[in-house]
Amino acid sequence: MAKETPSSSSMVRKQELEEEEEEEEELMLYGACSGWVEARTSCEHLNSLASDLSHIPTPHTPCYRSASFTLLILSIAQIVANLILRCQHPAENWLCLCCKDVFCSRFVNKHMLQHYQQRNHCLALSYSDLSVWCFSCDAYLDVQAITQLRPVYEIAHLLKFGEAPPFRTMECLQVSSSQAGS
Ligand SMILES: [Zn+2]
Ligand SMILES: [Zn+2]
Ligand SMILES: [Zn+2]
Repeated sequence: MAKETPSSSSMVRKQELEEEEEEEEELMLYGACSGWVEARTSCEHLNSLASDLSHIPTPHTPCYRSASFTLLILSIAQIVANLILRCQHPAENWLCLCCKDVFCSRFVNKHMLQHYQQRNHCLALSYSDLSVWCFSCDAYLDVQAITQLRPVYEIAHLLKFGEAPPFRTMECLQVSSSQAGS
């Protein structure tokens, strides 16, 4: 880019920032695409979140056919059983945030829904668009507003895209610090 006066270059930078924000908004809208439902900023079921969500399966983990059955099997056999018993849907599955098992969506074989009905694990993260759904609230949850969901969203984003997500607060900090520097 050619050298310009300070005022016009800062305008260019401002425009670039606005474009980035627009892209992010599009992603978020796409994330809650099923009928433009607004994501909830609170949920009463967060105490059922798994305690250690820093280690989660990768986005390409296939769906388990039956978690309740695999739980009956002893640990060594369980690993073998998991390999055999997946419903084989390979991608765009849901991660149960209560037990960290992976299940396919209601548009495939409904295994995440079945898992909720069987085990009452209501919180799930979509590896398709990284949105979080609460079956008990019957609503999407705002991963940016609910701090308990941020770490797992961040890790899932890292696993899926190879980089941390652009959180709103971080972006605000970056903008304000760059403005302070100029
Ligand atoms: Zn809820
Ligand atoms: Zn679960
Ligand atoms: Zn499945």
